[in-house]
Amino acid sequence: MRKITLKHSPPAGLARKLADDLNPSQREAASAPDGCNLILAGPGSGKTRVVTYRVAWLIGRGAPAESILLVTFTRRAAREMVERLGGLVGARAGRVWAGTFHHVGNRLLRRSARELGFESNFTILDSEDQKDLIGLAMTDAGLSSKDKLAPKPAQVQHVLSFALNTRRTLEDVIAETAGELVAWTDHVRHAAAAYAARKQAANCMDYDDLLVLWLKLLNEHPARLAEQGKMFQHVLVDEMQDTNALQIEIVEKLAAAGSGNLTAVGDDAQSIYRFRGANYDNILKFPDRHPGARTFKLEVNYRSTPQIVALTRASIAHNHTGFPKELVSARGDGPKPAVVATADVYEEAALVCQQILETRDRDVPLAEMAVLYRNHYDSVVLQGELLARGIPYNVRSGVRFFEQAHVKDVLAFLRVVLNPRDEASWRRLLLFLPGIGPAKAGAVHRLLAASADPFKALASAETMAAVPTKSRGPFAAFVNDINLIRATDPEKHPADAIQAVLAGGYKATIRQRYDRAENRIKDVEQFAVLAAKYDSLERLVGELMLAGDLYGADVEGGDEPRDLLVLSSVHQAKGLEWSSVFVVRLVDDGFPNRRATDEPGGEEEERRIFYVAVSRAKDELMLTYPSTVSRGFGPTTFSTPSRFLTEVDPDLFERVALEHEFESLDINKE
Ligand code: ATP
Ligand code: MG
Repeated sequence: MRKITLKHSPPAGLARKLADDLNPSQREAASAPDGCNLILAGPGSGKTRVVTYRVAWLIGRGAPAESILLVTFTRRAAREMVERLGGLVGARAGRVWAGTFHHVGNRLLRRSARELGFESNFTILDSEDQKDLIGLAMTDAGLSSKDKLAPKPAQVQHVLSFALNTRRTLEDVIAETAGELVAWTDHVRHAAAAYAARKQAANCMDYDDLLVLWLKLLNEHPARLAEQGKMFQHVLVDEMQDTNALQIEIVEKLAAAGSGNLTAVGDDAQSIYRFRGANYDNILKFPDRHPGARTFKLEVNYRSTPQIVALTRASIAHNHTGFPKELVSARGDGPKPAVVATADVYEEAALVCQQILETRDRDVPLAEMAVLYRNHYDSVVLQGELLARGIPYNVRSGVRFFEQAHVKDVLAFLRVVLNPRDEASWRRLLLFLPGIGPAKAGAVHRLLAASADPFKALASAETMAAVPTKSRGPFAAFVNDINLIRATDPEKHPADAIQAVLAGGYKATIRQRYDRAENRIKDVEQFAVLAAKYDSLERLVGELMLAGDLYGADVEGGDEPRDLLVLSSVHQAKGLEWSSVFVVRLVDDGFPNRRATDEPGGEEEERRIFYVAVSRAKDELMLTYPSTVSRGFGPTTFSTPSRFLTEVDPDLFERVALEHEFESLDINKE
């Protein structure tokens, strides 16, 4: 038979970019042959650049974009990589499966939910809803919330999650990390089972389920394993050092079921999520688990000046575990990292603000500067000072927009419309009505759950009869609101649905129940503005619930047109870089965090966090600590500078002394 060969050409200019934008070792890694590949290198050496270019290279060689799975640590990182990829391969970039583990899990589970006993429109619980549901499950398991010694829902949530993520038994985790719960182990196990049953009944999953059930699907449904193995011809993972047992098992299962093409990228010395079960052995032992894997090293740091690289190297040298790596800066000289002691936390905040303004006067945009801290509460005084001086900033840690009570209320309205079996959301809303407490809310929900058409049941005489007489007026108004929200066709017009929430009785609820009511109403209006960008309620709710996702926790302020300073915990700053970085509150007890250093291996973990912090800086790095600290109560005490400052050669720093100058106070009117 005659054959015709169709010719495909790689994306225009790709070969040139692969040649020009990478150094020889980066190019070798980006174009490594199929199979298992490990890229293990220090910060700023271009790992993320290489993995992005590798995806482009694979596409250039003919791999369909949708056959590539690229997992990264945060949604922000995924978005940046896809953007970058767009510049290399054009529109095909959007078809790559790129995201956090939880995002990919969510997308895949929608297709197979039924096999796991869920509907495909399952909703995702955030950690607050999760805590509420665990509280109910604990009551099911005979744990009375009135018993002062009984575990708290937050404790149970923590041990459950840790056990799942590390693939260890609840018994082991309790014995090792939560001694105070040992006597309650059986109860906790029963509560865990009740919690799972409640989630299934309400068609809800929590964040951990997105991974646990994904793995379960792969383990127990061979057809799905084969399907996903075939789907993902190439699996690539950035920030491999922060994967936990669950994530690594998913990745390795998928790769083994498919073509066996797995690229792992990371730096064991930047593993900082141990408290969530991350294990840097996942990257260090990669060659043992995959005999024949090729290892690539990158030894040039393109991010930071030699002065900053010298400090990062000197600091991490104090850790005894880990893979030693070479790192040489490709940049020209810059100033040494500055260390400044301030009198107290207020002076520290004033210093940082003044430095930021001076740096901005040198034409460095605010967005090229970041203040990093170990603990979120370390940012509060600084936030006050920034506000006072009118320096606009964006906080990437702490309470997130979508975890505020009023935002969660609005989500509850959307969620009951989307999934009328969602018990937690019905309860949340019903409790707003006067005269309805948990028992009545439960009774109403049971009537809805028992009905084939919950919305019809909501408006039925039987349900009305379950409501106390004095609550019937407000309840009828509530039912009317729900109907109006449904009438906006929320599936396709989520913004209209949010407007409908505001147009109903909810605005009055905000004013009754919350402080700063007008601000909250404005928040909800802005939420509608954000929602207008979505054409599907399911996608909106799914994506926003994941915006607070534990693995990829980053805050989305919508579009950020203004030039904003970044305030971030070190944990949220991984993978990122700024021209000018300030690391504050470098006192022993704070950074390193004392609680962490009490645990075995804790000091090394804290040092890795410090290493991540200082290696975010491109040009300038300032390290500050207050000489005295106050905790808001009790006396002010003297502090000890962080051991991470005192243990390295002082020559690596420039010590800066603070002087005070008072502008003359001119009392003569001009
Ligand atoms: P981290 O460990 O912090 O995640 P990384 O190893 O992933 O760092 P990248 O973020 O990929 O490093 O790269 C650091 C910086 O160096 C980026 O600004 C990147 O664009 C730049 N860079 C990387 N490789 C090169 C190169 N060959 N030429 C010029 N710049 C480069
Ligand atoms: Mg990176």
